[in-house]
Amino acid sequence: MASALTEKLTRLVKEMRGQARITEANVQDMLREVRMALLEADVALPVVRDFIARVKEKALGQEVLGSLKPGQALVGIVNKELAATMGKGVADINLAAQPPAVILMAGLQGAGKTTTTAKLAKHLIEKRRKKVLTVSGDVYRPAAIEQLKTVTHQAGAEWFPSSPDQKPRDIATAALDYARKHYFDVLLVDTAGRLAIDEVLMQEIQDLHAVLKPVETLFVVDAMQGQDAVNTARAFKEALPLTGIVLTKLDGDSRGGAALSVRQVTGAPIKFAGISEKIDGLEVFDAERHAGRILG
Ligand code: GDP
Repeated sequence: MASALTEKLTRLVKEMRGQARITEANVQDMLREVRMALLEADVALPVVRDFIARVKEKALGQEVLGSLKPGQALVGIVNKELAATMGKGVADINLAAQPPAVILMAGLQGAGKTTTTAKLAKHLIEKRRKKVLTVSGDVYRPAAIEQLKTVTHQAGAEWFPSSPDQKPRDIATAALDYARKHYFDVLLVDTAGRLAIDEVLMQEIQDLHAVLKPVETLFVVDAMQGQDAVNTARAFKEALPLTGIVLTKLDGDSRGGAALSVRQVTGAPIKFAGISEKIDGLEVFDAERHAGRILG
């Protein structure tokens, strides 16, 4: 891998020329570069600390000290550790349930839940040939229900009406019933988000989870959220059994360090990435390719 980080480490090693051997202090210098690369990519600080500690342990276990090319050896360890944290290849969406397979969308307001719901509907229609129904459980913002209706129709899926005077769990029950009666393969449930973590809302989405028994509970998170992504991810993981993550706004100028943060905190695989505002701006997430992007 010819990344900026590899170049920096190679330069450090060159500066050490003339030294009889690589010392622990040299390894510390190299680790500082790794730390900088991760922070520049906006990986959350506690996640960086854990990561560096794991890499350090391996690096000092003679793998770097004893190596002829310590720079490359360290990059090798970093890459291996990144791959171990991020997971390998792609994690497909799970639809293995008695139809309709329910997919519950969770996340903060503005993360991209509604947009992603429609993108996912389009993906499932076009790539998996599924009959898809969407419904909004956001009874706080009538505009959010209308927004889902518009984007659902753009996606070529069917939208189930809901209104602010209903209870979210009643909406869920009605949508589930309709989906069963009309032989939908998938029911996508968009939910209310707040600007920050909120107890009442967490309780509400837990109730929805209990009623819907989703086969997928996807946590939608904005890649540009950077350092804050960790706290949000932790709160959602504690509230819900997350089965996957959608990382949105990867088209922004972030190097996508949030992927590493969120992956480490939740342990759930990143399944999709949002790469534009448009309805077709959804990609199946490739963990290995993304690891290279984080290191720059
Ligand atoms: P929600 O409140 O979580 O439902 O968020 P929305 O779906 O309404 O999205 C919030 C804003 O982010 C909207 O302006 C979307 O167009 C935008 N958005 C969502 N996903 C992406 C993405 O992957 N890339 C970009 N550039 N914008 C996105």
